[in-house]
Amino acid sequence: MAPSATTTATIQTKSSTPDLSFDRSYVQIIGGKPSPTKEVRHGLNPANLQPKEDVPLATQEDLDRAVTCAKDAFKTWSRVPYEERRNAVLAYADAVDHLRLQFRDLLVAEQGKPIPQADYETDAAIEWMRGMANIALPEDVIEDNARHTVTTRYVPIGIVGAIIPWNFPLLLATGKIAPALLTGNVIIVKPSPFTPYCGLKLVELAQQFFPPGVVQSLSGDDRLGPWITSHPGIDKISFTGSTTTGKLVLQSASKTLKRVTLELGGNDPAIVLPDINIDKVAQQVAFYAFLNSGQICLNLKRIYVHESIYEEFRDAVVGHVRSYVIGDGSKPGVSHGPLQNSMQYERVKTFFDDIEKQGWKVATGGKIEPSQGYFVTPTIIDRPDEDSRIVVEEPFGPIVPLLSWKTEDEVITRANNTSMGLGASVWSNDIKKATRIGKLIQAGNVWINTHFDLSPLAPFGGHKESGIGAEWGSNGLKGFCNVQTLFCNKQTVS
Ligand code: NAD
Repeated sequence: MAPSATTTATIQTKSSTPDLSFDRSYVQIIGGKPSPTKEVRHGLNPANLQPKEDVPLATQEDLDRAVTCAKDAFKTWSRVPYEERRNAVLAYADAVDHLRLQFRDLLVAEQGKPIPQADYETDAAIEWMRGMANIALPEDVIEDNARHTVTTRYVPIGIVGAIIPWNFPLLLATGKIAPALLTGNVIIVKPSPFTPYCGLKLVELAQQFFPPGVVQSLSGDDRLGPWITSHPGIDKISFTGSTTTGKLVLQSASKTLKRVTLELGGNDPAIVLPDINIDKVAQQVAFYAFLNSGQICLNLKRIYVHESIYEEFRDAVVGHVRSYVIGDGSKPGVSHGPLQNSMQYERVKTFFDDIEKQGWKVATGGKIEPSQGYFVTPTIIDRPDEDSRIVVEEPFGPIVPLLSWKTEDEVITRANNTSMGLGASVWSNDIKKATRIGKLIQAGNVWINTHFDLSPLAPFGGHKESGIGAEWGSNGLKGFCNVQTLFCNKQTVS
């Protein structure tokens, strides 16, 4: 197992019986302790716009202190044997599991997603920690002969700055914390200012399983991200967010040659072949287009349907979309919650403004009704021009274009005609044909007859402007490591 170390250390945890209380105070953690700030801020519940609890507002000095503590912690943590680090991550996962309902409800209240989707995210957050803890990352022996042994080792990079978006605040936090710690790094977690609550609670809980300084959190406003990416003491940035911000992160990190993993935006196409069961596929395609109210990097954002079934397919999709129940995610029976924040709500509104301006044809929806929260009516645009905003850009809301195609070559070209390359799916009863088409799509994740099917054991990353590198799976673990080649001469020098 790797990364290994020349000398080892052992974990000193605070207590063998973890305290699993879950109160409504939210602290940032520096050096194993809550670190209050002079100023505070708060998020909003997007379903009713009511303010949530106060959270700290980190300063640059807080970041400096966190980096100093992280440096100290790294000296020891990086030498803790892999098996012990793994056991600590698994014990931490058990604690999150014990509190899964509390995390789930907090997620609904801060993010807005309905209970079944929050259940999925909470379970996935736990599964990802356990799943990645079970990936072996052995040293590779490249040569072993009479002269020498040459080994490739995967050694920790150092201090990781984890920058999390607001759409999956729980899963995308544990999906960075677990692999960073397993590989011997220490981590400073920065949740999105829109959804700070789950991330802060996760890091608070982690203090019972890891020594001080190994897992820390900072809660700030828009200034904090750039402070982290430009801080000379941070060695690696694991970033998930928009492509626009990803480019700024890369630019800032380049000044100190930080390692970066960027998980960015998407504009996923679905290619629907004519041989499918129309109603079944329409239901699935609509599900993946509107899941989380369109606020997933991997939502279907362009739906290409063969012209021979186009009208029937469109009407079936519309039927399914009209059955959605929009409302406060905490209420039973709600299938689709609000958008998460005012910035996103205002941006999505601009696509609705374009309906009239651009003369787009609406198959369902088309109007945003006034409400107490950031609610948007699920909307399908019927065959807009291929170069229209709704096809080219990522709205990140529940408004999706439906398009028709004639020939295989043409639809492959159109699916690839984007600067994004995150995911894609092909839907057909001819699995061989669908696989052949899928392999021609320039995207990091391709599915046949499904979409958004993920695993902690599989690398996840984007091609083109959808990202750099991958997270999860053994590739993901390696992304938190430097490669070290060890040439061990078998002859002594005496
Ligand atoms: P965002 O880029 O606005 O913010 C993401 C995070 O970056 C937040 O924590 C934010 O505070 C921080 N940030 C903002 N400006 C920064 C800067 N200059 N330097 C450093 N950090 C900065 O993204 P968002 O609106 O929170 O999330 C939505 C976007 O994220 C969508 O484009 C979506 O496709 C993408 N996303 C991608 C994935 C993926 O895995 N590929 C997953 C989820 C979301």
